[in-house]
Amino acid sequence: MTDLSLYTIRGAHQAMKAGDFTPLELAEDVLRRAQEANGHLNIFLEIFPDVLDQARVAVEKFRRGEATTLSGIPIAVKDNILIEGRRASAGSRILDGFISPYDATVIGKLKREGAVFVGRANMDEFAMGSSTEHSAFGPVRNPLDPDRVPGGSSGGSAAAVAARAALGALGSDTGGSVRQPASFCGCVGLKPTYGAVSRYGLIALASSLDQIGPLGKTVDDVEILFESMRGVDSLDSTSFSPTAKKVSEPKVLGIPSEVRTMKGVHPDVLHSFDAAAKRLSSLGYSIREIEMPSLPYSLAVYYIIMPAEASSNLARYDGVKYGFKKEGKILLDDYLETRGRGFGQEARRRIMLGTYVLSAGYYEAFYGRAQSVQRVIAAEFERAFGEVDALLSPTAPTPPFALGEKTADPLAMYAADMFTVPANIAGVPALSVPSGVSLSPESGAKLPLGLQIMAPHHREDILFSIGKKFLGEQL
Ligand code: GLN
Repeated sequence: MTDLSLYTIRGAHQAMKAGDFTPLELAEDVLRRAQEANGHLNIFLEIFPDVLDQARVAVEKFRRGEATTLSGIPIAVKDNILIEGRRASAGSRILDGFISPYDATVIGKLKREGAVFVGRANMDEFAMGSSTEHSAFGPVRNPLDPDRVPGGSSGGSAAAVAARAALGALGSDTGGSVRQPASFCGCVGLKPTYGAVSRYGLIALASSLDQIGPLGKTVDDVEILFESMRGVDSLDSTSFSPTAKKVSEPKVLGIPSEVRTMKGVHPDVLHSFDAAAKRLSSLGYSIREIEMPSLPYSLAVYYIIMPAEASSNLARYDGVKYGFKKEGKILLDDYLETRGRGFGQEARRRIMLGTYVLSAGYYEAFYGRAQSVQRVIAAEFERAFGEVDALLSPTAPTPPFALGEKTADPLAMYAADMFTVPANIAGVPALSVPSGVSLSPESGAKLPLGLQIMAPHHREDILFSIGKKFLGEQL
């Protein structure tokens, strides 16, 4: 009999509707895969003890004819998205023992559909990283080559999909953390338009850039998850919906010429990117180069705005309100001890950087200036979208790298986001789809590469349309 974990979300839904198998049988197969994979890949911080019970509830939904597309679908949830009554650590020791008192809005939506939550997916501490090596609970390994990283910070979510330990997953993307691990693990990942999906119940990294995004085996599956999560939420004042649904089909695709001149891009990445552009042109799209001279400054802007917001968001972990506490002699020592021991090295680095760029004497020189450049970059995107329907770039500058390769060099780690951060800076939606491979010189393993497609605000439909055509999925 087929291993049911091989199914897509759409395929599993149709098969369960037709009565080919039940949500319980599906959950049993996926749970087995999750337990096996977890032993050597460290994908989950916790596999929930009630997965099969959740599936039984979904069985009832089907029996009563109330099933929707996500009923009974096993989903992995990044450990910074709150589920009521369950632990949430955001990959950090500082939240030790924290149990969420409420559901994130996206979790509430998926619960109403009857989705089955497999477990809490491992992640870089507070979503800071590009390899999942900054988790306080040990790194995740890439299911396609366990000596390599799965990308980050949603590495557990991407690895769960790639290892078939879930049919889909939720991640969060502040500067690339859904798309880059999707690229490294050979799956599809979406960062929605800023504000398209509620952030209520997402443990914040940088509030003006964070978005919850779905990962899946296909563009279709990612679209299903996105459609079920999106929408205005009174609990997130930055959430909004477009007034009218636009329907024009994309025809013209732009490639920023800066993509080819940025430093540190692996030759296989450029090679595969050119092949992807050729394929899109053979599918009937017209492709043109477009100048976006400020694009290369996105990374510098990001590494000022993100730590600034992170340092202020992380101020709440003081040993009084949440989780871990280490007592000192006086109150100040409590804070110093708690935060000094509770946060890992990368979190401490960003808190220091963020506090510095926000400090009275430097605010204008760093934070103020970064915000000005952010506006220039956003304007460049707007201008570009006056000429083309979507923009293309590689998702990541390299294939998945080896464990430990970049941990000693934070700047090298940060450079992993050079193609993904611009979409967060401009707030536009972006999708990563698998696009070719690079052969590992050591093991000969096929290392996945990704193509990134970016579209104007609230035009996820453009991303899905191009992504499906590119992957040869049915429209
Ligand atoms: N890798 C980037 C960082 O370290 C992006 C993180 C994210 O998107 N959450 O900040």
